[in-house]
Amino acid sequence: MPAPPRLPLPASLYADTARPTVEAPPLDGDRNVSVAVIGGGFTGLSAALHLAEGGADVAVLEAHEPGWGASGRNGGQVNPGLKGDPDEVERLFGPDLGRRMVEMSWNAPNTTFELIRRHQIQCDASQTGTIRAAFQQNNVADIQSAYDQGAKRGMPVEFLDAASMREATGTDRYLCALVDKRGGHVNPLGYARGLAQAALQAGATVHGGTPAQKLWRDGGKWHVQTPTGTVHADHIVLGTNGYTDNLWPNLRKTVVPVFSAVVASEPLSDEAARAIFPMRSSLYELGKVTTYYRLDRQNRVLMGGRSRQAPVDGPEDLMFLRRYAEQLWPQIKGIRWTHGWNGQLAITLDHYPHIHEPAPGVTVCLGYNGRGVAMASAMGPQLARRILGGKQEEIDMPITDLKPVPFHGLWKTAVAARIAYGRIRDYLHI
Ligand SMILES: Cc1cc2nc3c(=O)[nH]c(=O)nc-3n(C[C@H](O)[C@H](O)[C@H](O)COP(=O)(O)OP(=O)(O)OC[C@H]3O[C@@H](n4cnc5c(N)ncnc54)[C@H](O)[C@@H]3O)c2cc1C
Repeated sequence: MPAPPRLPLPASLYADTARPTVEAPPLDGDRNVSVAVIGGGFTGLSAALHLAEGGADVAVLEAHEPGWGASGRNGGQVNPGLKGDPDEVERLFGPDLGRRMVEMSWNAPNTTFELIRRHQIQCDASQTGTIRAAFQQNNVADIQSAYDQGAKRGMPVEFLDAASMREATGTDRYLCALVDKRGGHVNPLGYARGLAQAALQAGATVHGGTPAQKLWRDGGKWHVQTPTGTVHADHIVLGTNGYTDNLWPNLRKTVVPVFSAVVASEPLSDEAARAIFPMRSSLYELGKVTTYYRLDRQNRVLMGGRSRQAPVDGPEDLMFLRRYAEQLWPQIKGIRWTHGWNGQLAITLDHYPHIHEPAPGVTVCLGYNGRGVAMASAMGPQLARRILGGKQEEIDMPITDLKPVPFHGLWKTAVAARIAYGRIRDYLHI
């Protein structure tokens, strides 16, 4: 099978500023391991790290380089929780599993920042909270209810009214917001590279430029064919999220890959940064299509959200996000936008991440619905526990069957239409 090209990272702020990458040479010949992890993003790297710490002999196979996918391109927001609020999660999944899902997912930022501390990862980590903000009247009750649900569970949450939001964000766009102090932000490429380093130090090997091209079972082992050798493993982990290909039958069809984009500005002065976003948290808006932003440590504005559904080529391609920032804070008009990039995340129809075990010795985890920085990090220990012998009941997320999304081929068009529709609805405030 011809080797597909090893692609460089897209030009991004992170590619220019993150800590250097790790040594991750392609696989060279055949190897026997206990676990082969396919995909070198947060899912694969966190799983590999925790598996190696648990004593497994692990090889990560990444088609390009660690952090090449969404993990090295995202908004860097370390956000707590799932798409549904805690009451909904407990109602849908029952008092035992539901409660454990809430506990694990809402604490996922703590897990992430703890990993960063424990492994001394240089990634500009900042635990300054996540703000979930409403600018439309019909979302005010959602914020109030999310606050009540968090507060009654003793979560570190705070309700901000319009005046407090003006103080926190320097704009009067918002009617109210929920702050969760566990959230924050990181340079995600630096974090991915630091996780790869930690996995290496724990004894895993990480192979960049090593696409898994074929997977089969024979003689009680899984075999993963790559252009430069075959890995023989007792167990396979698939952590390919929005870049899932046809390696495992129908897996690609269980998620809808969606592009999201980020545009970054030149650094602002300390005074300008204080005026536009003194709270320096991660912020995402409730709306038909999510817009999210933060300031990084050098006072750059990183504004993320809707993207065309194809790769973009720099800040000129992201005029919507630039204009949006300048509407929030008219005083930054004329600022220089230095970088613009995008990448693919994976949406599931039920909006929850999915763990599957489609065959003995195969574990799949994907579909973070734009919340993978914290969640994929927190899934690593869960996947490791399961693979190292943990019972299904010990895993804080349901393990489900693969279910292809109906009419999968039509979803790309549907996503583009949905973005256009959402943009109009948000504009009209309906
Ligand atoms: C622009 C953007 C902004 C986002 N913002 C945020 C945010 O602010 N906060 C947040 O929580 N989430 C955000 N997300 C989502 C988050 O980045 C993802 O949920 C998370 O990175 C998923 O990690 P992963 O390891 O599962 O997948 P990825 O990081 O996408 O990694 C998958 C890897 O698998 C590799 N691969 C695929 N097939 C093969 C194969 N056959 N063989 C070998 N390797 C293979 C790919 O090369 C890729 O590197 C954003 C995503 C994007 C694109």
